[in-house]
Amino acid sequence: MKLICKLCNLDVSKQVIELKDLSLLNKTDGQDLIPEGFYIVADDDDYFTPQHKGFIIINIKDLINSNYHSDKSRLNGCCGYDGSDGMNRVCLSKHEIGTERSDCWMSHFVAVDPESVKFV
Ligand SMILES: [Zn+2]
Ligand SMILES: [Zn+2]
Repeated sequence: MKLICKLCNLDVSKQVIELKDLSLLNKTDGQDLIPEGFYIVADDDDYFTPQHKGFIIINIKDLINSNYHSDKSRLNGCCGYDGSDGMNRVCLSKHEIGTERSDCWMSHFVAVDPESVKFV
């Protein structure tokens, strides 16, 4: 499966399959949370912020056809992007699609908004 932007139908992820073995999640700060090629849906586990409940979690390297948000206030972080100020990733047509979290004090992933994308 892959994710496409609902508004412009552009591919925004590589092929991904659901990760069933959650023991493969790596919650070490500064490292990838989820292996490439997989996704999970953020549940109400304490690990994910409440605003990401139901979002599709993928590896940053699996996000394609995407840029950073033009609103710099969305791009805070000390050495990466902390994703604490709303969605910071857009498709190439500038539609908001999700939030990259890639700062040093968190494990790294993109939380893709299920309202903005669909699986095909
Ligand atoms: Zn789009
Ligand atoms: Zn940092």
